[in-house]
Amino acid sequence: MKKKKCMMDHLKVECLLPIPSKLLIWYDHVARKLPWRIDHSSYRVWVSEVMLQQTRVEAVIPYFERFMSALPNLAALAHASEDQLLKLWEGLGYYSRVRNLQRAAKEVLRSGRKELPQDYQALLSLPGIGAYTAGAIASIAFGIQVPAVDGNVLRVLSRLFACGKDISLPAIKHMFEEAARSLVPAERPGDFNQAMMELGATVCLPHTAPHCDVCPISDYCRAHLNGNAEDYPYKAPKKPRVIEERTILLVIACGHVLLQRRPTKGLLAGMWEFPNYLGWFEDEEKQALLIGLGMGNAPMRPLGESKHIFTHREWKLRGTLVMATDCIEVEGAIWASGEDLNKKYALPSAYQYFSKQLPKLFDLSMEEKWAR
Ligand code: SF4
Repeated sequence: MKKKKCMMDHLKVECLLPIPSKLLIWYDHVARKLPWRIDHSSYRVWVSEVMLQQTRVEAVIPYFERFMSALPNLAALAHASEDQLLKLWEGLGYYSRVRNLQRAAKEVLRSGRKELPQDYQALLSLPGIGAYTAGAIASIAFGIQVPAVDGNVLRVLSRLFACGKDISLPAIKHMFEEAARSLVPAERPGDFNQAMMELGATVCLPHTAPHCDVCPISDYCRAHLNGNAEDYPYKAPKKPRVIEERTILLVIACGHVLLQRRPTKGLLAGMWEFPNYLGWFEDEEKQALLIGLGMGNAPMRPLGESKHIFTHREWKLRGTLVMATDCIEVEGAIWASGEDLNKKYALPSAYQYFSKQLPKLFDLSMEEKWAR
């Protein structure tokens, strides 16, 4: 295999010295006014950074505002119920992240503090806080001179240094973090880190030609000067995802839907969901599944198909509507109304195609139009 080149070792640090000031001048002109930038307390920076790890800025803003008004500080987060926490996170995915937020908040309170520690290593020791999040909180909220290297920044750095090494490898990420460390200025380290992120998010774009013509550091960018910025960053191809076919049962009775809780470990741990089973089943087999839930035969009809992609897995979901006679007690399950689903229980977005049909299906169940 051809060895991937990296110019990082050949660049002299003094060549890069103008980069922080160029970037900060640019950032002062273009920085978007975001809720977590206006008030950058450590709690707000922390929550926003965790939310931003998976979703675009525009999508995060309403989630962030809702989260802050419900849980405005670390103590409120530590004392929130699991259902409230999951409901506030509903739609963002990666629910382990919000659980880790709470675990970390509890740990901080247990240590006798009311706020996050003003120390990079102490931040790093908290659940769910890795090098990037610790760097972002330390530099933005506390003005500590440390880097914060997320996916956007990795892309900028790999182009800046024309480095074709695989950015998904931990050792290469670490190498880029060290390169970023040499760039972070003592003055305004948080703004510098945010400027790097902003550059990656708005100018040095992925999957398309970067806007090098408006880039404040184009004079120092090896990939741009070589004319092949699109070749970076390099990521080794991923292993194909595991594909699972699953049967979903939307069991409705008297304006309520049956929900079960997932196991406390693994994919979507502890989330509420519709009863679902590995494999696609025929009607007779589905009736047997209903008997397994303690129900008798009930009218059924297909509800369509959808798919959901996780990092390493793809679900192909085939839904069936089941009109049960009563909300009978089912072990380990609950019956949720539309209001419960709006205010109380969070459903994973994997089931969105089916949960969006619920209002119509609830009405149908109340009208009792189905032959019994
Ligand atoms: Fe990215 Fe182009 Fe700027 Fe280089 S010059 S950092 S490739 S936008």
